[in-house]
Amino acid sequence: MKNVNWKEEIEKRKENLLQDTQGLLQIRSVLEEDKAADKAPFGPGIEMALDYMLELGNAQGMQTKNVDGFAGHIEIGEGQELIGILCHLDVVPEGDGWTVDPFGGEIKDGKIFARGAIDDKGPTMAAFYGMKMIKELGLPLSKRVRLILGTDEESLWRCVDHYFKHEEMPSSGFAPDADFPIIHAEKGMLNIDLKQGAAAENCQHPNVLESFSSGLRLNMVPDQAEAVISGSEELEESFQQFLKSRNLTGSSSKNDVGLILTLIGKSAHGSTPEFGVNAGVLLASFLAGADLDEQGKAYIGFVKDHLGSISGEELGIKAEDNVSGILTVNPGVFDYSREAGGTIGLNIRYPVKHSGEMVLDTLQKLVDVKSFSLEVTKHTKPHFVDENHELVQTLKKVYEEQTGQPGNPIAIGGGTYARSLEAGVAFGALFPGREDVAHQKDEYMFLDDLFSAAAIYAQAIYELAR
Ligand SMILES: [Zn+2]
Repeated sequence: MKNVNWKEEIEKRKENLLQDTQGLLQIRSVLEEDKAADKAPFGPGIEMALDYMLELGNAQGMQTKNVDGFAGHIEIGEGQELIGILCHLDVVPEGDGWTVDPFGGEIKDGKIFARGAIDDKGPTMAAFYGMKMIKELGLPLSKRVRLILGTDEESLWRCVDHYFKHEEMPSSGFAPDADFPIIHAEKGMLNIDLKQGAAAENCQHPNVLESFSSGLRLNMVPDQAEAVISGSEELEESFQQFLKSRNLTGSSSKNDVGLILTLIGKSAHGSTPEFGVNAGVLLASFLAGADLDEQGKAYIGFVKDHLGSISGEELGIKAEDNVSGILTVNPGVFDYSREAGGTIGLNIRYPVKHSGEMVLDTLQKLVDVKSFSLEVTKHTKPHFVDENHELVQTLKKVYEEQTGQPGNPIAIGGGTYARSLEAGVAFGALFPGREDVAHQKDEYMFLDDLFSAAAIYAQAIYELAR
């Protein structure tokens, strides 16, 4: 094997790398389905970005292919086996509040700024330069390497669905669309709606839970909850005491329906509910002590009895493995009204060695007893490449050699693009300790990180495919 100083090689190509990255960042590749055309299903911006990348490949004499405008690839090397590098060219809309042009690719303070700088155009260009350097140095490869360019990652992943329906699945690969060092395990995910049975008619109880709502999205910990209770003046004082004893903020007020209680929690991503404070669960735990109508009591009681911890223990679904850790439950959306009864939306992440069917079986038995029903709205299976897999071992070695930092693979709650590959891991390009600015205003990538990533990808590609 030839020893190449990849850092030196990228140093020689810095100017070109920055120019090409700027060119890509200046294309507003946001999904515009209303402007879709034949061979441009996601609109003209995305089409332009895909053409731009394929043109760069053509200019290097690499093999390229546009797969119906859904995705494309750039290929080097030869041989039977195929290594995949899965990137994406679409970006989320820029939003407000930028202090630089969101599609300028401006360079200042050692950073390059634009929507897509870190997610995922900068890392895409770094991977392309990895391939370009191997080609320019004339290094022989015994496998083929494909940079697969997705164009719908930020929405529905229709790009990879279409692509892998028509094109070869690589034997292994990586996606530069998350964090360094390596993400090799992603938990399974279940989105579930629990629905309360039919409403009791002619409720005569003096205190009635009129409504209860908290949370907007299943994959976020709700940071606010509101309940309206009629005929229950005396709750106001005990609510204030509850807030005080738990060191929480909230408020109470009255309107012509009754008493309105609001509780403030703390938001966090649904894959890490331990970092949040679930406002809905807490407000329910307060209301569980109140004298309420039967239907309201049943709804609040279910939350109090079964959703008190994020481990799923009170649901009977607690689980853990040695690769990806514990099962987590995020009750993300609560919606109750006196007229319609209640629903609870759960976002469950289960360990890679666990079974989603087992989780569902257990939950089904529980809700049957409690007169709730259960509907699975989404089920994503776990994704896992063994730590001893050659792919993981090679990437770990490369990362450690290039950075001097430990490259041990990690497990997360789920959701990287790497799961589109049968044997794929996420590999960069956000370095440990760096602020994650993906989808934020003033998105940027450090120039040094862009260069380091290119050197890492070059060596990784070479070692995987030589
Ligand atoms: Zn991305």
